[in-house]
Amino acid sequence: MTQRVLITGISGQTGSFLAKQLLESGHDVHGTSRSIGKPSWRLSHLGIQENITLHALSPDDGSAIRALASKQYDKIFHLAAESSVASSLQYPSRTVEANILQTTHWLEALRDLSAQTRFFNAASSEIFAPSENLLTETSPHLATNPYAVTKLAANNMAQVFRDSFELFIVNGILFNHESELRDDRFVTAKIINAIRDLSQDPNEAAVQLGNIAAQRDFSYAGDFARGIAASLDHDAPDDYIFASGQLHSIQEFFDAAARYFGFTPHWSGGGLDAICTDKSSGRQLASISEKFFRPIDEAGKSGNAQKAKDILGWSPKYNFESIIEHMAKYGGIQTA
Ligand code: GDP
Repeated sequence: MTQRVLITGISGQTGSFLAKQLLESGHDVHGTSRSIGKPSWRLSHLGIQENITLHALSPDDGSAIRALASKQYDKIFHLAAESSVASSLQYPSRTVEANILQTTHWLEALRDLSAQTRFFNAASSEIFAPSENLLTETSPHLATNPYAVTKLAANNMAQVFRDSFELFIVNGILFNHESELRDDRFVTAKIINAIRDLSQDPNEAAVQLGNIAAQRDFSYAGDFARGIAASLDHDAPDDYIFASGQLHSIQEFFDAAARYFGFTPHWSGGGLDAICTDKSSGRQLASISEKFFRPIDEAGKSGNAQKAKDILGWSPKYNFESIIEHMAKYGGIQTA
């Protein structure tokens, strides 16, 4: 029988990929979005805008969440969130509302109105304390920015509801995930778009970046969407890390992207005075601005996805180089 699923935050990066995959595997896909009036550039790009049923939902509307939960979906993938660390530093209370309160509304509604629905909660690598070692599902927690605080609370709340009320709830602990559907509040899309512009327009100014020494564990968002879907098909609910297990700096990402577009990146100077020039033309490609630094930008964290591989049979198709190549080839489609 066709399964009816709901994806909160369906017009986001991972929600869009997940919607496409679930449609392809024969699901009746519904989704929530803050603004259903204007078409989503991501859903339009994937050609699925017309194939899904959209419901308008404001993250703080508890009664609308209960009304949706009472429709008894087979599965709910809860991806709607304030997802940018930078925005969370600017709007902490809005982040609490979007990430803790909204998730708790969903959990409560599930318990009261639809206890057989399987529920996926999108958690984040930001919930972990930094470590020299690969992080696992049981590694110690530490939150150092408002986004991390809210994701840790929502992760714990989901576990409490799973254990207290015997609900089928999965936390997917997602490390950085990128794609051609990323928006340029995130450094990967910002870099790719900037270098594409530099390669197309000789008058384009160099891009300003923040902490290029920061390291992240990068994966492809479409790979994560497959793992997320699989996590609710397993016979028991659990928590799973999705990650590549490898760290790369923002500078490495920049250099690989610059090379893809035909530049030969060369860095000189240090700290706030560092600049990157193209070795063959001497043209400046990047500089550093204090504006893009964060108050706390901790050392990189890398995750061990062995549990998802062993139990869910998940395996990523993209690596660091192919993510950059894919974003460079197919990105630049963001319209709003
Ligand atoms: P996050 O890992 O979810 O916070 O993803 P981001 O893409 O926002 O940031 C990744 C890393 O890139 C962080 O360590 C940022 O400090 C660093 N970074 C360096 N320059 C920039 C920039 O210009 N914009 C953003 N968003 N991050 C930058």
